[in-house]
Amino acid sequence: MANLEKLQSIISDIIAPSALAIDQNGSFPRAAINALGQAGILGLLSSKEVGGLGGNLGDAAKVIESIATHCPSTAMVLTMHYCGTAIIENLGTETLRKEIAAGHHLTTLAWSETGSRSHFWAPVGTARRQQQQFVINSSKSMVTSALEADSYIWTSKPSEGSGASTMWLVRKGTPGITMPKSFDGLGLRGNASAPMAAVEMNLPDSAMLGTDGNGFDVMIGTVLPIFCTLNASCSLGLMEAALAASIQHVTGQKFDHLQAPLADLPTIRAYIARARITADCTRTLRDDTVRALAENRPDAMLRVMQVKAASAEAALEVTETALRVCGGAAFRKDLGIERNFRDARASFIMAPTSDVLYDFIGKAVCGMPVFG
Ligand SMILES: Cc1cc2nc3c(=O)[nH]c(=O)nc-3n(C[C@H](O)[C@H](O)[C@H](O)COP(=O)(O)OP(=O)(O)OC[C@H]3O[C@@H](n4cnc5c(N)ncnc54)[C@H](O)[C@@H]3O)c2cc1C
Repeated sequence: MANLEKLQSIISDIIAPSALAIDQNGSFPRAAINALGQAGILGLLSSKEVGGLGGNLGDAAKVIESIATHCPSTAMVLTMHYCGTAIIENLGTETLRKEIAAGHHLTTLAWSETGSRSHFWAPVGTARRQQQQFVINSSKSMVTSALEADSYIWTSKPSEGSGASTMWLVRKGTPGITMPKSFDGLGLRGNASAPMAAVEMNLPDSAMLGTDGNGFDVMIGTVLPIFCTLNASCSLGLMEAALAASIQHVTGQKFDHLQAPLADLPTIRAYIARARITADCTRTLRDDTVRALAENRPDAMLRVMQVKAASAEAALEVTETALRVCGGAAFRKDLGIERNFRDARASFIMAPTSDVLYDFIGKAVCGMPVFG
């Protein structure tokens, strides 16, 4: 895919050089997002009929992993955009699909709420019909790109229909939206995350994505496979970065009195070996998840849940190993491992959280209904 060749130059010219400052200042990677838009990469999952690249989940996984190797914050902004794009491709207007395909529009998911917390499938925010409009009231706990996105895929309880949730397309600046301010977070600091609230927000009928009450089906059928696979790809990218920096350090730095590099210590080599195995197992699982989905295999949804839980755990383990084998050097910020360590800590709390996934996976393997 020709446009993906441009990705490497965007990474080396824009994303990699600014990653440190983005983390330190908690600033949004606007230059990278603009460049990705111009290169068509914001429209990777948009179909060719609206001017997109018509790429698949495997393509998106490679893009996210490559970016996350240098800047996981940018990779997460793009991950949420691809999740929103998939919904808009299925349920949005042609005009909006074209805007995304052209790289002019960044979207994201506003799902998690302060009331139902990480149980994003059960929003407690309300939607009520009032004449020709719907009125939305809800409190979202944390939205990636909140301060920068052009639209939000918003969830609420259904207005009338049965089902757990309804989805809405909310444009930036819609009256009734309030956004206190972005978080000063531990990791993924450059994604302009913020809580958001809707207070008597009026939306036209046309803002409803799909039907009243069908949000859960869209979450599970459309978004979960993309989110879990790309979240895993983000974890993989930062694991590879931590491993590469560790290997460079332990092979390049030596004990002068022994005339030997740190890698001469069997203990160090064993830690590196275990981290390599963990990262490779994660990659194998990620690639198998992409295949399972493409082939519509019966185990595809199990793989989807496994890949996010396993990659989040693997990222914790590999970045901790990187800190350990590099000693004091990794405790400082210059190696980048300290940033990988902090960024790795987002994945297991991004919903569905690892503990929720363990519950779901346990139900699946015990033959119990997973989402019942
Ligand atoms: C970097 C980042 C970006 C995010 N971006 C977005 C975004 O773009 N859009 C969005 O909607 N949300 C986003 N979120 C929010 C995220 O998806 C979660 O909803 C949120 O982080 C969970 O926090 P909480 O404190 O509400 O969790 P809580 O629900 O309070 O969970 C607390 C603990 O309880 C555990 N727990 C909860 N339920 C169960 C259960 N059934 N079984 C076992 N353990 C359980 C959890 O695993 C967790 O360890 C983001 C979060 C982060 C960190």
